[in-house]
Amino acid sequence: MATLDEDGVLVEANAGFMRVIGHAGTTPLGFPAARFFLQPPFSALSAASAGAAAVGSEGEVHRGLLTIGDYAGKTGTLRGRVWRVGRSLRVLAELDIEELEQIFDTMLGLNRDYAIAQAELALTNLKLQQSAARVLALSLTDALTGVGNRRWLEEALPLEVNRVERNGTSLCAIMADLDHFKRINDSFGHEVGDKVLVAFGALLRAQTRPTDIVARYGGEEFVILMPHTRLDHALVVAERIRASMAATPIEPLPDGVTTSFGVAELGIGEKGDALLRRVDAALYRAKQSGRNCVVAG
Ligand code: GH3
Ligand code: MG
Ligand code: MG
Repeated sequence: MATLDEDGVLVEANAGFMRVIGHAGTTPLGFPAARFFLQPPFSALSAASAGAAAVGSEGEVHRGLLTIGDYAGKTGTLRGRVWRVGRSLRVLAELDIEELEQIFDTMLGLNRDYAIAQAELALTNLKLQQSAARVLALSLTDALTGVGNRRWLEEALPLEVNRVERNGTSLCAIMADLDHFKRINDSFGHEVGDKVLVAFGALLRAQTRPTDIVARYGGEEFVILMPHTRLDHALVVAERIRASMAATPIEPLPDGVTTSFGVAELGIGEKGDALLRRVDAALYRAKQSGRNCVVAG
């Protein structure tokens, strides 16, 4: 609190005001204090005061922020009011706790918004990753049968071959082809043909280990990659699949569907495409020898 006369000379001031202007010791009344009023400048306050005097109202000259300087040239902004009392100006100012609290509240609010935005972003990222994973899974899946597609096989095969080379384990491949499938389509329609493909895909999945790779390689041709498997075991698995499929009734077919198989084990130093050529050749021999059988390549 301070009172200044119209020339800006300090008429009275409390200790708080003296602290603001950085004056230590007793209050120097009669001291020219106008220069401490930076915004609004004292000249503007006194001009406003003179205007107020002209219309005869003793009243408020300024309300709001007051920037006041100190002896050291530093400035501080306070919230205050200046009003005219007679020919003097009375200043009442306070450190703006309320405004600080408002700023603090705003910051808290912004922090909260930021945290919420961060959480939403993380969730969006997660969803994006999940849908990317779904898209990837779909791009490697055969839409009709739900087993892997040829691309899946082509991605998995070199990895499995590398693993054998690194770890000295074994890998077998089985190529299966439905016998006289064209006749099924021709006699019973394409939809029944599809149903047979779906049934065969499900049977392959059921008759193999989760770590085996089952893929639809072409129209009615499937490949199974069996890690950690020797030829004798792969032949047993192929034979079991052949017998199961032949014994599976599929409406409206009068008989089970027979299948031919080529089976081979990866040789030392052999690449994946060479292994596939060998199972294909073995499958060809199975077809040549009357179908509905398993041939080792
Ligand atoms: P083989 O015993 O020598 O294998 O004779 P096949 O009739 O099974 O073989 P072929 O290659 O002559 O005929 C394969 C048929 O598979 C021809 C094609 O129309 C059919 N096919 C391929 N993809 C699909 C499909 O997605 N759905 C259906 N229903 N048929 C398909
Ligand atoms: Mg066929
Ligand atoms: Mg075929």
